[in-house]
Amino acid sequence: MGRNEDAQDRLLGMFVDMAYADARELSEMRVGACRCCYGEGHRYQFTTLEWERYQEAHEKALRKAEAKGEEEPEFDPKGGPGFTLTREPNPECPECGGEGKPRVVFKDTQRLSPGAVSLYSGAKKTKASRFCEAFVILA
Ligand SMILES: [Zn+2]
Repeated sequence: MGRNEDAQDRLLGMFVDMAYADARELSEMRVGACRCCYGEGHRYQFTTLEWERYQEAHEKALRKAEAKGEEEPEFDPKGGPGFTLTREPNPECPECGGEGKPRVVFKDTQRLSPGAVSLYSGAKKTKASRFCEAFVILA
């Protein structure tokens, strides 16, 4: 096989990989529950860590009020703990109307298929976002 044929075969293989590639291997738009979908009374629901911090902040406010001899602030549990963004939206939710909240998920590029590798050209982190932007040369 000559040099040109070899290069042509590689190029053809790359285009075949691109043609059958699934761009969702790079990034996806997913929809999950909004903060009010499953909160008590459809109020704002916290993740477990947020709930712990929210309670700690209240306890700190209580100690501060007590030290100053002021009236102790009442704890408002809002929608309580248990928020999971991967849960399905609640069709009864008055806040999102059951449509949930969309979010972008960038995938780990260490284990891409040959097709997805052919689409991937890099990632960058922007000042405006804490997230990385994956981008493709063809889609
Ligand atoms: Zn909702």
